[in-house]
Amino acid sequence: MPRELDSLVQLQLALKEADTARKQLEDLPDSMREVHDQHRTAVETMRRLEQQIEVDEHERRTAEAAVADANIKLGQYQEQISRVTTTREYSALLKEIDAVKTKVGAHEEEALTVIERIDAARRELEQVRGDFAALDQRYREQLELWEQQRPGVAAKLADLERDISRLRTFIPNHMLRQFELLYRRLGGDALSNAAKAQVVARGQLEWHCSVCNYRVRPQVIVEIKTSGALVQCERCHRFLRVEDHG
Ligand SMILES: [Zn+2]
Repeated sequence: MPRELDSLVQLQLALKEADTARKQLEDLPDSMREVHDQHRTAVETMRRLEQQIEVDEHERRTAEAAVADANIKLGQYQEQISRVTTTREYSALLKEIDAVKTKVGAHEEEALTVIERIDAARRELEQVRGDFAALDQRYREQLELWEQQRPGVAAKLADLERDISRLRTFIPNHMLRQFELLYRRLGGDALSNAAKAQVVARGQLEWHCSVCNYRVRPQVIVEIKTSGALVQCERCHRFLRVEDHG
């Protein structure tokens, strides 16, 4: 039967490794994070530009149709000029012609602005598409590599889970419950080293918990050292170990 504390130290190590492996299987590995984010950003940028171009093209067609309509109207008014008989009719018609000309100018301006916007978006799209080919290839390669690695990680996780089950049997139930509760609550570290510190006033060495600094009785240190007993820090409840044998 292994010493309880040794089993607990190994158990925490196995739990941590299992957490890492589980996270790897659920999520992308860190090595892929950057290329994955770049890939997604590029895809989103291309989609946004394509949509913008589509909307702008519609706007351009609308403006150009308005220019054409106004030009037809202008032609009709200009034809009417030759048939006008009175000055009043003539000046009224000129007024209409001016108004239509202003309209043509405004719609032409609109069309020009939107064409410039489309050109800029097309240039940007071309640039992103050009860079995307290499990025996409890199992304696919890494994805494939990751798919090859996954079964290995899954097998490792299965091994770790077997180790965890075995190690748990070496630890008394009530201690195990406390430890696992603490491990989850602290996000993965329920152990603390007991460390020595010089106590100047009394000129003797005193032990304390290296996490919360609470004093640890020398008798506890002896128990841990000699039998690998499971003892919790009285303040932070972490399980104490003694690494420094000096
Ligand atoms: Zn403590």
